[in-house]
Amino acid sequence: MKHVLICGAGAVGLCCALALRERGYQVTVIERDSAGGEGCSFGNAGMIVPSHFTPLAAPGAIGLGLRWLLDPGSPFYIRPRLDPALAAWIVHFARAANRDNVNRAAPILRDMLLASRELYEQLADRCDNAIGLVKRGMLMLCRTRAGLEGETRVARRARELDLPVEIISSARAAEIDPGIAMEITGAVFYPLDSHLDPRSLMRKLTELVIDAGVTIHWSTRLDSWRTVGTRIAAAATSQGELTADEFIVAAGAWSADAVRTLGCRLPLQGGKGYSFTLPNPPQLPRLCSILSEAHVAVTPMGSSLRIGGTMELAGLDRSVSVRRTQAIAAAAAQYFPALRAQDIAQLRPWAGLRPCSPDGLPYIGRFARYSNLCMAAGHAMLGISLAPVTGQLVAQVLAGERPRIALEPLSPQRYE
Ligand SMILES: Cc1cc2nc3c(=O)[nH]c(=O)nc-3n(C[C@H](O)[C@H](O)[C@H](O)COP(=O)(O)OP(=O)(O)OC[C@H]3O[C@@H](n4cnc5c(N)ncnc54)[C@H](O)[C@@H]3O)c2cc1C
Repeated sequence: MKHVLICGAGAVGLCCALALRERGYQVTVIERDSAGGEGCSFGNAGMIVPSHFTPLAAPGAIGLGLRWLLDPGSPFYIRPRLDPALAAWIVHFARAANRDNVNRAAPILRDMLLASRELYEQLADRCDNAIGLVKRGMLMLCRTRAGLEGETRVARRARELDLPVEIISSARAAEIDPGIAMEITGAVFYPLDSHLDPRSLMRKLTELVIDAGVTIHWSTRLDSWRTVGTRIAAAATSQGELTADEFIVAAGAWSADAVRTLGCRLPLQGGKGYSFTLPNPPQLPRLCSILSEAHVAVTPMGSSLRIGGTMELAGLDRSVSVRRTQAIAAAAAQYFPALRAQDIAQLRPWAGLRPCSPDGLPYIGRFARYSNLCMAAGHAMLGISLAPVTGQLVAQVLAGERPRIALEPLSPQRYE
């Protein structure tokens, strides 16, 4: 039985562990944090969103980004710093922010998102829905005419991609989520989207992999590698050396660091986001929603409401910007007048780093220079949505099978 070592016990690493174990591999996971951590896979908005087939690098992204840089409360921010990796990432992003990239990436993301959606349904069935999967769709809420026009264009593209979608009035939105006051001009309803509770998901995935026989070494940091020719022989960790036949890097925003000493160049930036979780909101929507103009996600989780947003390229720093968290709270109260910004802003914000590739596609597959190294990283704002399909794809790569989704566009070597 081949032995696989996975670095990172986020949603992606655990889904890889589960998929590989189910195919009979011996699997070991190393995770720098202790069990039940605070990483990006825990405090996010928990949306499983086939509607999100448009990569961040899209036409207009650069102009909008530059305008937002001048606004302290904007949803996107690049902390200015002299960092060649950041400069290279921005150049790659600017090159990818065009119609061709969107047209190329959209069907790939749609196929991956739909495959993952199916896998989440199977997972929910298997565990009596301990992951809190709610399949009621997602509302893209627009306060302004211009916002609704922009989302209508995305909805038309969704139709071209055969995704069901409805452009709806504020009255229809009130019918879909009755009893919830929404200050909007209109909305777009994506019935195939769903949401779950990421903390429950992480708890259940951890339980399932351990029950399946996977060994997880918590509080164990990957420091470097031992190589022999074109193969990796072992991972040098804070708890000693661990050998294996295959190595998978699923270290989220830290994945580029993890392979740098191997000479593998992976353009990847941490995209910091924040969330607040309101324990007993005055109104609890039934559906998750995105506040379109504010780029804020709102997700009911049991009796709580999670509100998250901002994309701040600030390296690997997880410190909290009060201005930006206040902007999230203010936006939520604008769209949902029953919420009060000060009630939200007084809660302790959570911060997480999305692992962002410049073209909006994850890195899944092998590096040619090491025959037993495989990447599973760079899922940006879709890591929860895409984790199960990533696990399947990685298992297919290791088994030498032809995956049902073409992996060339996801190659970790596409910038080398
Ligand atoms: C505010 C916000 C809202 C979001 N909402 C959504 C959403 O609604 N839907 C969605 O699909 N996605 C969402 N995302 C994105 C999603 O959370 C991420 O894409 C996803 O969690 C990434 O998972 P991962 O397993 O790749 O990385 P991580 O969860 O970061 O896991 C990587 C793990 O690797 C470990 N690690 C790193 N380096 C080492 C090392 N050297 N040795 C050992 N271990 C190491 C880390 O400790 C970490 O636990 C959101 C993100 C944010 C910030």
